[in-house]
Amino acid sequence: TEALILRDLSKTYRNGFQALKGINLTVQEGDFYALLGPNGAGKSTTIGIISSLVQKTTGSVKIFGHDIDTDLSLAKQQLGVVPQEFNFGMFEKVIDILITQAGYYGIPAKLGRERAEKYLHKLGLWEKRDAAARMLSGGMKRRLMIARAMVHEPKLLILDEPTAGVDIELRRSMWDFLTELNGQGTTIILTTHYLEEAEMLCRNIAIIDKGSIVEDTDMKSLLGKL
Ligand code: ADP
Ligand code: ADP
Repeated sequence: TEALILRDLSKTYRNGFQALKGINLTVQEGDFYALLGPNGAGKSTTIGIISSLVQKTTGSVKIFGHDIDTDLSLAKQQLGVVPQEFNFGMFEKVIDILITQAGYYGIPAKLGRERAEKYLHKLGLWEKRDAAARMLSGGMKRRLMIARAMVHEPKLLILDEPTAGVDIELRRSMWDFLTELNGQGTTIILTTHYLEEAEMLCRNIAIIDKGSIVEDTDMKSLLGKL
């Protein structure tokens, strides 16, 4: 099964800047992909389009066979996205953020609470469940964003620079969490501008530069070439 198919994806922003120039990428179910590229390469734009927050100029996106132009709600059920920027209501309680998110996906209240509790435990946030979001440290906020992206248990999880500005200890625990999650069958794509992180964590790699995919291979062959 293909978890994600991007076909001829392009994006020209309103100011005329062409951020994506015909991206093609196929991610198989179970893959663990790094989308590697320097700042400005088009990584966030790509994720924005997949999560339908940014309008594409041309091309198509399919998530587990569901085209976002025609089957958006089915596509969204299979997709979890962890954005780069913290975007919660700062005064909302941690557990309520997760329960509310579950509600957006039509998950019944009792199951929503169970899922919220499950991911609070998994991400080491259980002790903070009744705290307001603004009381969390930077690292905890990152983990809360991952928990929020997981409450509907998507089959594809996409993370935008998940470890940017995160200290080494938390980085390792996030790596462990993601590795475990992928081991359990969740397809993962993360963006990074660190080759070391991609190398450490991912089996597949696509390199994006100036809006084009310049390499798409498995990590072992790439490292063989360097
Ligand atoms: P769209 O073409 O998707 O409608 P817009 O051109 O309207 O996007 O821009 C969306 C938002 O991104 C605006 O709020 C704009 O201020 C902001 N923006 C503009 N230029 C940049 C840039 N170079 N990098 C990041 N954000 C930008
Ligand atoms: P990355 O995530 O790889 O750093 P982005 O997708 O954020 O790259 O940005 C790709 C390019 O598009 C950059 O040159 C950025 O300045 C530009 N850009 C991003 N958002 C906008 C926008 N809303 N309007 C115009 N240009 C944008």
